[in-house]
Amino acid sequence: MIGVDEALRHVLEAAAAGEPVPAEPVPLAAATGRVLRETVSADADMPPFTRSAMDGYAVRAADTAGAPVALEVVEEIPAGAAPRRRLAPGQASRIMTGAALPDGADAVQMVERTEPDLAGKVRILFPVSPGEHVRRQGEDLPRGAVLVESGVVLGPAHIGLLASCGRGVVSVSRRPRVAIIPTGDELVPIDRQPGPTQIRESNGHVLESLARLAGGEPDRLDIAPDDEASLRRTIGAALAACDVLLLSGGVSMGDYDLVGAALLQLGCRPAFDRVAIQPGKPLWFGTWARPGGGDVLVFGLPGNPVSTLVDFLVFARPALRRLAGASSWLDATVAARLAEPLSRRGGRRAYLPASLADDQIGPTVRLLPSMGSADMVALARADALVIIPEEAERLEAGVKVRALPLAGLTRA
Ligand code: AMP
Ligand code: MG
Repeated sequence: MIGVDEALRHVLEAAAAGEPVPAEPVPLAAATGRVLRETVSADADMPPFTRSAMDGYAVRAADTAGAPVALEVVEEIPAGAAPRRRLAPGQASRIMTGAALPDGADAVQMVERTEPDLAGKVRILFPVSPGEHVRRQGEDLPRGAVLVESGVVLGPAHIGLLASCGRGVVSVSRRPRVAIIPTGDELVPIDRQPGPTQIRESNGHVLESLARLAGGEPDRLDIAPDDEASLRRTIGAALAACDVLLLSGGVSMGDYDLVGAALLQLGCRPAFDRVAIQPGKPLWFGTWARPGGGDVLVFGLPGNPVSTLVDFLVFARPALRRLAGASSWLDATVAARLAEPLSRRGGRRAYLPASLADDQIGPTVRLLPSMGSADMVALARADALVIIPEEAERLEAGVKVRALPLAGLTRA
């Protein structure tokens, strides 16, 4: 059995061994969450012209030194309009947020700090310094500077930057194709009524949801029975058409746990089949060399629903990101205090469902009562997985631990 860090190292190395998935053009509207595969530079200075950051009056700052002072208003400049008048000493222009600053002006006084004066004049009540409430051309970024780097997972702010430089179509990684095969003789599809010894297949649906949130293109296949020959057939067909294969079930020590054997017979190269993680210990991972070149990453995930989900988050999600060429692939954890003491048997790194909230003392985690690796109900209520180090057996209330927030990972 290997540790979590070593197992993750194997997985990430395998994900980085070949070329990332190819790039494809997509409309900006469909690019959220995708990995950018080109470096995009500013097509103009940002901001593109010197403009007002406030509704108010464009002035010469020097004129306001002795404020209050009355200035002659020479024009009004709405956003989008070109100023026509150059400010001479003693003059001001009414200006709106986002409008171009007129020549001669070097500052803006906000309207709240002015008063109407005699006809055609405004009283500037307080002095302004040069540059105040003015956004200078190019002050955010000069034209040609890198705006968004290749490898970034595109979020709303990136979409805004790409839009602001006119990019209606961008090059992003094709979503890695994720084949999903649930295995187990006791499973029935969700549209069938389970018999007295059967259960509905749910892991395939969980993995489909997780894979999509991780940027993959899931393809959930039919339930495979616990039979080596049919497992081989189903897995063999799936391997040829995916970048990542997720199997669920059949990797523990039972007499009908035949997934590992089937994978070996198909020529998959194993990296490990047990990890010191709780839940999620029975995890088979290896690669399959595609005849056309490149490796398929193969995860034999444990059948227990929580184990499957935890192993996916810890191992498969970073692998998918890396395969897609993302420049960062690990999900950030946060430091939080334990609300209550915790005792357990040490030896494996634990990922335990918890609620995460901000207390007076900062982020605090409260473990949710959980029945263990089959208890999806607890997990569905969790905001985070608390990460308990391998060696820890007793942790007191108030102790700082790491937690993996689940927002965005298990919820859209
Ligand atoms: P296994 O790893 O195949 O021994 O399965 C462990 C436990 O998880 C058993 O109780 C299975 O019934 C359950 N299980 C396995 N696969 C699924 C699945 N796709 N959906 C729901 N439960 C499953
Ligand atoms: Mg099974």
